[in-house]
Amino acid sequence: MAARIYFDHAATTPLDPRVREAMEPFLAGTFGNPSSLHQEGRSAREALDRARGQVADLLGAESSEVVFTGSGTEADNLALLGAANEGHVIASAIEHPAVLETCRHLEKLGVEVTCLPVGTDGIVDPQSLKGALRPQTRLVSVMAANNVAGTLQPIAELARITKERGALFHTDAVQAFGKVPLDMGKIPVDLLSVSAHKLHGPKGVGALFVRRGVALNPIVHGGGQERGLRSATENVAGIVGLGEACAIAKGEMSSEAARLVGLREKILDGLKNTVPNAYLIGHSYKRLPGHLCLGFAGQEGEAITLLLELDEAGVAVSSGSACSASHADKPSYVLSAMGFDPIRARGSLRITLGRFNTEDEADRFSEILPRAVSRLKTVATHAGFGARSERSPS
Ligand code: PLP
Repeated sequence: MAARIYFDHAATTPLDPRVREAMEPFLAGTFGNPSSLHQEGRSAREALDRARGQVADLLGAESSEVVFTGSGTEADNLALLGAANEGHVIASAIEHPAVLETCRHLEKLGVEVTCLPVGTDGIVDPQSLKGALRPQTRLVSVMAANNVAGTLQPIAELARITKERGALFHTDAVQAFGKVPLDMGKIPVDLLSVSAHKLHGPKGVGALFVRRGVALNPIVHGGGQERGLRSATENVAGIVGLGEACAIAKGEMSSEAARLVGLREKILDGLKNTVPNAYLIGHSYKRLPGHLCLGFAGQEGEAITLLLELDEAGVAVSSGSACSASHADKPSYVLSAMGFDPIRARGSLRITLGRFNTEDEADRFSEILPRAVSRLKTVATHAGFGARSERSPS
């Protein structure tokens, strides 16, 4: 039987063996608490310092600007709750729940929240940010890349607009980090969230970039680790894994991005002939290198069946986001915000490629997908469906 094909890297990525190797000493022999003064503690502290440098290096930041957290979700919570517990906050309508639910919580605390719309390509219009900013705006949060549609946002421009009006700019870069360049020396972002398990590192480790001089309140209180911003004994092995994942990404990002764009476009090109009702969701090229989000005109309601068919045929993909698997049959709020009607917003297939995917896997997938789609029933189309170019939202 052919090996399974894993095309769900936006949900999580397999641990790179080089990352595992770097972590191993810290799961066994080197077990000290980084806050201890003895040799065991100092060894752990040195490993943390090194990892902090590796994360900072990938971001073009200072080591002192990196705060380790327990996840990307926690980094988002620290950014929003730590920087904006009053006044006004702006977030895009397609943010991950780690940001949107935190905004909801802020509203309960009396903070006013404005949701920024996106276009049919999933991109925030800088003009709409200009219109939404107020003198009371404390923070703007717009993700660097969307987890469902894969679209990249113009964060440099959005950050500049925000800074001109005296507010802080946060970006959830969990999907973009390690895949596209994010240079804090060039982009005036104040706060940026990352997560290790999206770049072939371990689960349960993240980091928040906090630009020097940005004041933040902690959300976890205790022993004062991480400059008092994230108390708790550090997850040394996990942090070492995040650091190594960053070092690998720094060396390989540009060649890997070119390779993944090649695989992505090959799959997309093949579909034009084999699955003519397929359409790309999100921007055609302002998107993550290995990310395809597809709709199938007239078959949108069958996305879950298609996912299960593909799973049966040995391919792991996702419909929308893994974080919303429990709401799999509901319209995606991301696609709804991009202007899809409820039928089309239910039916996307997310194919996300990663470091260990091969050309052979892309070719096999290009044969498996048309067979799986042809087994789906075609459900009633709705008004407005016409030629391919009309129904494509990109
Ligand atoms: N933000 C985005 C854009 C994500 O895609 C995810 C995970 O899917 C998260 C935040 C949450 O990261 P973590 O799983 O590390 O909590």
